[in-house]
Amino acid sequence: MFSLFKNRLPQHDLLQDDWLPDNTEYQLTRSRRRKTIEIQVRPGAVRVLAPAAISQARIDHFVAAKQSWIKSRLAGFAQQPVAQEIPAIDNGSELLYLGKRYPLLILEQQESSNVNVEQGCIVLHLSHRIRRPREAAIHHLLEQWYRQQAEQYIRNRTDYWAAIMGDQPAAVSVRSYRRKWGCCNSRAELRFNWLLIMAEEEVIDYVVIHEMSHLQHMNHSPQFWQRVARFCPAYKNSKRWLQQHAFQLRW
Ligand SMILES: [Zn+2]
Repeated sequence: MFSLFKNRLPQHDLLQDDWLPDNTEYQLTRSRRRKTIEIQVRPGAVRVLAPAAISQARIDHFVAAKQSWIKSRLAGFAQQPVAQEIPAIDNGSELLYLGKRYPLLILEQQESSNVNVEQGCIVLHLSHRIRRPREAAIHHLLEQWYRQQAEQYIRNRTDYWAAIMGDQPAAVSVRSYRRKWGCCNSRAELRFNWLLIMAEEEVIDYVVIHEMSHLQHMNHSPQFWQRVARFCPAYKNSKRWLQQHAFQLRW
C-alpha cells in the first residue's frame, strides 16, 4: 500500500484515519539522532518526528494522546482566510494533466460531448443534448476523461515496467481513493488512484515502480526500498513531490 497522507505500514492502519480532518497531510519522519517524539502542526499538515528505534504502536499512541491539541491547532489555522475552496471549473480554468497546466476551453451546443487535448488546451465539447445542469455535466465529462487517460497511461507504464522488472501483475485498474496513490494486494492486483494522471510522468512512474516492487516484497522493508531505488534512483524526489502536491491533485 502506498499512503497518500500517511506514512505508515498497513498493519498499523489504525488511529489517525478516524480523527484527522480530511486533506490533512500526515508525515512521520524517524531519525537515529532523535531521543523524543515531537509533533509539529502546520496548516493542513501534521508532522511527527520520532526516534528510529521506537515502535509504530507507541508513536500512534503518543499522537492519539495529543489528538485534541492537534485538532484545535488545525482548526485555528482553518479559520484563517486561506483559499481552500476548489473554484468551479469553467472556461479558462487551469487543469493539471501529466504535470502541466492546461487552460480549459469549452465549446457549447456541439453534436456530441467529448474531451481532447488540442494546441495546448483541454477542449471540452459540450453536446446540446446534455441533460444535467451545465456545471455538473462539465465536471462529469472531465472526470470521465481523466479516468480514461489514467487507465490507459498507467496500464502502458505498468506493461513497460513489468517487462523491465520481470514481474507481471495479475490485474491493473484505476480507482478513486481518498488517501492513497496506489496499492498492491496479495493476489498481485495493482490499483492506482486516477488523480495520478495529474502528476508528472516521472512521479507516476515512481508510483508504478513502488507498487510493482510490492510483487516481490509485501512490506516497506529496506529490501523493498532497494528494489524501488534500482528502477527509480531518484524516487525520493517523487515521494517528496507527492507529499508536497497532494493538495493540488484533487477533484
Ligand atoms: Zn507501498
